[in-house]
Amino acid sequence: MKFKGGYNIAIEGRPSSDVKTLPEPEALYLPLRTSRFAFSDVCVEDGRRVKLGEVLAKDPENYSVPLLAPRAGLVRLRTAENHIVLEDIATAPQHLHLAEETAPHIARQMGSSGILCHKLLTLGAWQFFYDAYSGSLPEPFRIPQAIIVSTASCEPFLARGDVQIRRELQAFSKGLEYLQSLLEYQPIYLVVPDIESDFAWQLRENVRGYAWIRIVEIPLVYPNDNFTILARNLGLKPENGPVWALRTEGVLAVDRALTASEPCTARIISIGGPAVKTAEHLETVYGYPLNKIVDSYVSETDVRIISGGVFTGSTIEAKQLGLDSECSGLTVLPEATEREFLAFAHPGWRKRSYGKWCFLSALRGEFQEIPTTAVQGEERACISCNFCEEVCPAGIMPHLIHKYLYNDDLDEAERARVDLCVGCGLCSFVCPSKIELAAQFADAQGRIRREPRPSEERGKHHSEEATL
Ligand code: SF4
Ligand code: SF4
Repeated sequence: MKFKGGYNIAIEGRPSSDVKTLPEPEALYLPLRTSRFAFSDVCVEDGRRVKLGEVLAKDPENYSVPLLAPRAGLVRLRTAENHIVLEDIATAPQHLHLAEETAPHIARQMGSSGILCHKLLTLGAWQFFYDAYSGSLPEPFRIPQAIIVSTASCEPFLARGDVQIRRELQAFSKGLEYLQSLLEYQPIYLVVPDIESDFAWQLRENVRGYAWIRIVEIPLVYPNDNFTILARNLGLKPENGPVWALRTEGVLAVDRALTASEPCTARIISIGGPAVKTAEHLETVYGYPLNKIVDSYVSETDVRIISGGVFTGSTIEAKQLGLDSECSGLTVLPEATEREFLAFAHPGWRKRSYGKWCFLSALRGEFQEIPTTAVQGEERACISCNFCEEVCPAGIMPHLIHKYLYNDDLDEAERARVDLCVGCGLCSFVCPSKIELAAQFADAQGRIRREPRPSEERGKHHSEEATL
């Protein structure tokens, strides 16, 4: 498989492979909104005592995926806005005895794979599935053309698949078998890093007998693990049906739901970045109080906490009190709101740049950068250095699209295939003029979706490079 572009940056604060279990909290704060879900249909009353795994709320726009109680406790609906709070948490984890749902209408219509999907949905495992092209929750009862399972994590500092598989290799294999039982003859692509190690060998050996699994080795370069890039590179075209995608934790959740019939409320998240005391993996449940994590792990006071990786994560607002159900990692950066005046021209030993000529640090050789939340530079005009095009994994020309958008020419931007942008953020990172290209392109994609353009024009001018 051939990849275009990509780039790894070395940033201080990479999580180690140690997994620590967070102490039991006194209360859990469950956000009702995540990046994909809005759990607006609240199913419990204030003051009610719930058991572990009970449905607290559902997202009516997303196949009614449930927000399940990660612990038994007392429901509080008015303590924190947009949260369900669980107080008086049961100290000993209760074993859940979920009644097997018969769902006869699903069995009649969909057979055994329909029943399995139904179980994944009700036990919270379906939330780990993505549509490879849109990133949204896929439709549960429609058989996909393929499933992509990625064990690689290239974006700093997300929870690493190898850390999770090492702990539960058998459960991972079992989860893959369950995935296969959801399909008829469609393949499962297992994406693994192209590295030689005992563990990599063990993983490959473990799935060698599975004829329906196709192992795909990728270089560990960001963003080769992006689901859209993988689907395109595998030749899976959107018009041939959906492509489901999930990461290691998703396969483990499938096993948990279908082998043990247990709710999938536990998470292994990473915590990393230049402003943490110890960068590692944490075993916890969603709803865990963020202030407890900050008190134990964050070394500075003025920081920004990002849910997700450096490139694609989003800032956690102060009003969010607990980990949300989709968080796979926390990145902590020192806060710095001021752009430096003429920073692109300043010498500096701590700054790294994709272009070797930007800062004196080019003379230092390899080192780990300590970035802040400032973009380290003052925005200026494009200098046509071509860096953005070099790193772009989608094979488009970000500088050209930027010029079209600067002139508010959305039609030309569409012809230049702004729709192929996967939002990896690399172009913005390497741009020495610090133009916020990725944000511009996301905005343009939104405008195109809202105001459909004449489709017959699409693709007329798009280059060979744009088609992966
Ligand atoms: S144009 Fe899009 S896909 Fe290409 S580098 Fe920028 S954000 Fe990534
Ligand atoms: S990286 Fe920035 S300055 Fe260089 S060509 Fe792209 S947009 Fe222009």
